[in-house]
Amino acid sequence: MSDTVREVPNRIGGRRVPAASGAWLDDVGPATGEVIARIARSDARDVDAAVQAARAAQPAWAALSDEARARVLDRVADGLEARLDELAALESRDQGKPVSLAREVDIPRAIANFRFFAGAVRHQELPSHPMPGAVNLTQRSPVGVCGLVTPWNLPLYLLTWKAAPALAMGNAVVAKPSELTPLTADALVDVMEEAGLPPGVFNLVHGLGPEAGQALVEHPDVKAVSFTGGTVTGRRVAATAAPRFKKLSLELGGKNATVVFDDCDWEATLDGAVRAGFANQGEICLCGSRLLVQRSVHDRFVEAYAARVAALTVGDPADPATRVGALVSAAHRDKVEGYLRLAVDEGGTVRCGGTRPDLPGSLAGGSFLAPAVVSGLAPACRTATEEIFGPVVTVHPFDDEEEAIALANGVAYGLSASVWTRDLGRAHRVARALDVGMVWVNTWLLRDLRVPFGGVKDSGVGREGGRWSLEFFSETKNVCIAW
Ligand code: NDP
Repeated sequence: MSDTVREVPNRIGGRRVPAASGAWLDDVGPATGEVIARIARSDARDVDAAVQAARAAQPAWAALSDEARARVLDRVADGLEARLDELAALESRDQGKPVSLAREVDIPRAIANFRFFAGAVRHQELPSHPMPGAVNLTQRSPVGVCGLVTPWNLPLYLLTWKAAPALAMGNAVVAKPSELTPLTADALVDVMEEAGLPPGVFNLVHGLGPEAGQALVEHPDVKAVSFTGGTVTGRRVAATAAPRFKKLSLELGGKNATVVFDDCDWEATLDGAVRAGFANQGEICLCGSRLLVQRSVHDRFVEAYAARVAALTVGDPADPATRVGALVSAAHRDKVEGYLRLAVDEGGTVRCGGTRPDLPGSLAGGSFLAPAVVSGLAPACRTATEEIFGPVVTVHPFDDEEEAIALANGVAYGLSASVWTRDLGRAHRVARALDVGMVWVNTWLLRDLRVPFGGVKDSGVGREGGRWSLEFFSETKNVCIAW
């Protein structure tokens, strides 16, 4: 560990502030296992300072016109775009994802989030309901101070997905990113300052979930909490926020099915299913970690699938040729390996991967794991129903539509699914029957920012995206005016 490791303090009221405790946490780069930064270890005192700064700044920000706020958001998008390569490298170094993915997906999406919500607030339409002798006008006002809590898998992408609509609607924000991946959030504040966002409108508090995150959710002046993370943490966040009557959005875990019928477009389905299973090392809530394949093509499909997975290049995230980078941490790799041991105990066969690749130099200390495909498991076993959130896909045969739907719905989660078939009627039937918030047919993770995003069952409560985000980050008021 070098003595020159950068210290990353909180960003409160336009200032860089160390934690009140004076303590720091190590931020470890997953590709090498080395400490790459130290972040403020914040507690309730820091959260309170950030909330007070947000409260002080929010009224003037809200008083600006929608157009004026949208212009600031556009400038944030411009600033992120100007730093695309730098941010992609930073995200890759901090998270372990391939730099090519960060450059093609994470950072462009962060830019798009700001541009999209700048446009959305400019173009929002509010209903009016005329009645005999009166007219009802629906108005929206900011909620006030919003708390944003985000996970480590898509750090800047998910933070900006919440921050852009919150700011567009005139709120002030206190954000708590995952302590595993704090660096692009800090860079975002630099960009926001350059873009002219007034001090205190966006505040960043680093630290551990049970300390800083919990204090943020508890704070009485935080009126809305938007949380993306695991289901267990989400339950805790809900239990904290509900008795305080806060607005709450929960985007939680998934165990999503990729449903392959025998009439699918073979090549496109193989490509799509591999991407769905292993993009971002399988560390995306939407990843298709359960591959359900119609029995008539099951063996042939699984063989071709495992061959493609085995051919994915695992290695240095900074190398543009890498398809699978490092898992976010050594502890997370341990957890994923534990599930692979469980899979074998449960009767599964690991068809490929699941081993630590032999990588040279400093990469030898990184948390890499070759992507794994497991067959032969009962669909109801733990490996096939619990969220692993890593590069592991389990495969299961089914006979007909009815069985495919039953298997897909047979887990506690209900986030998303993808269905692969050339039969349009079947696509409609299956999509309707799936107990999830989002279905892709013959594609995966094709996103339009206008559409509702979110899950059912243990995958969360509420929807984000387009007008759903604008509604969440505002209070709706009806004004009835008699003639
Ligand atoms: P966690 O639930 O562990 O953490 C999410 C965030 O919550 C982190 O910033 C964490 O801080 C914080 N946190 C932890 N405890 C508390 C608490 N008591 N109060 C407030 N905040 C707290 O999730 P991960 O970071 O491990 O992310 C992976 C999970 O996120 C997976 O389950 C994945 O499915 C889900 N996810 C869901 C998405 C969706 O849109 N549905 C998208 C992406 C991920 P700290 O890191 O310091 O613990």
